[in-house]
Amino acid sequence: MVSTKFSIGQKVYWARCERAPTSVECPDCGGTGRLRVTFHDETTVSIDCQNCARGFEPPTGRVTVYDRSPEARLTTITGIEIKQDSSVEYRTNDSYIIDEDRLFDTRDEAMTKAAAIAAEMDRAEREKVSRKEKDTRSWAWNASYHRREIKRAKESIAYHESKLAVASLKAKEQK
Ligand SMILES: [Zn+2]
Repeated sequence: MVSTKFSIGQKVYWARCERAPTSVECPDCGGTGRLRVTFHDETTVSIDCQNCARGFEPPTGRVTVYDRSPEARLTTITGIEIKQDSSVEYRTNDSYIIDEDRLFDTRDEAMTKAAAIAAEMDRAEREKVSRKEKDTRSWAWNASYHRREIKRAKESIAYHESKLAVASLKAKEQK
């Protein structure tokens, strides 16, 4: 039988974090909400940044991230599971499953661990936001789609205008 650090019924401190949403400047458009696309013929157009746009909403220039605040929550162990790799998980009375390295005898130890977790998670999230692979394919697709539609609409206008011109000439002749 593997001995565990804590036992069922024991009150322990759980190192955890509360998340609150906040935002950082969009790393792709620098907060402007706009991006430039240059076509092969050197035409440059400005399009909405999709990295900081949510669905059909216009781009905000900001990306949502979270600020984590450390917390030591007193909890009671109600179950213990020893995994195949000998790691230990605890079930608690507030029905969470927690790794052994997140539980402590004292509030101070738990707060120290929670602060370290919060700082690391905040850092990793912001790094991920700024390193995220740029979705250049769909941006370019959007730009060329709009350009194609404009060209088609212009051709359509020219066609209809030419038809109207013919009609008005005929109307004049008949007078
Ligand atoms: Zn953006």
